[in-house]
Amino acid sequence: MRGKVYLVGAGPGDPELLTLKAARLLESADVVLHDALVPERILAIARPHALLVDVGKRVGDKRISQQAINRMLVQFAASASTVVRLKGGDPLIFGRAAEEMAALRAAGIEFEIVPGITAAVAAAAAAKIPLTDRKSAAAVMFLTAQQAAEKGATEIARYATSGTTLAIYMPGGRYREIAEEVIRAGLRPQTPCVIVSNAGRPNQEMHWTDLTGLTFLSSPESPALLIIGSVAECREEMQAAPSGIPAEFRFALEAAQ
Ligand code: SAH
Repeated sequence: MRGKVYLVGAGPGDPELLTLKAARLLESADVVLHDALVPERILAIARPHALLVDVGKRVGDKRISQQAINRMLVQFAASASTVVRLKGGDPLIFGRAAEEMAALRAAGIEFEIVPGITAAVAAAAAAKIPLTDRKSAAAVMFLTAQQAAEKGATEIARYATSGTTLAIYMPGGRYREIAEEVIRAGLRPQTPCVIVSNAGRPNQEMHWTDLTGLTFLSSPESPALLIIGSVAECREEMQAAPSGIPAEFRFALEAAQ
């Protein structure tokens, strides 16, 4: 029997932010290979006798290699009918999906991608800010600080323009370096920033600052996502405003209808 592999996005961590398809596949999978980022509350949806493998786990101080994960996917597909490869957020964004798809293609194994809510989108929703704004942000860039670190130089500065929102994955405590680079690239030191850690989870936290403040920041808990750009203006005061519509606004609302 040849099984099918589903590369499934688990979203940011709240089970309610899974797609119906992701939840259905989790309920029916024989094997689930998941990342460390996927919380217990989501894994609990899998059948009790499904085999759950944490491929994000460290063995000693080494992570399971990407090649080993690719081999596992191919081997499990040879003996199980439904294999779910469950990834945090969306599988196609900083999820090493290219390597897994290449391995599955090479082995002639059928696969399908099930999208998920990526961290940048979850973080913006948590912070109640837009990622684009028709007046001030015509583009949003999904970037990683990690890949840049491996290469020894960051690429982030290349994308730093005042009309672009930067959504930076895996900031890995490099806040000061990132801030300095984008300031050198021409962004104003007062450019607003927000760091959202554990977006969409019960321990979600937000730090509102600007590029200057970012250089002094002590690292928030991971996973964390950094948003830089005019859209990240702190709107907490507005959010904290008492509910109910003040009399002076009612007229404006009625007029707009
Ligand atoms: N495929 C994932 C990203 C994997 S890279 C996605 O689409 O979201 C891992 C990085 O994603 C983390 O270092 C962090 O920057 C970000 N991330 C993932 N989950 C997050 C969460 N719940 N809150 C904030 N950032 C998160």
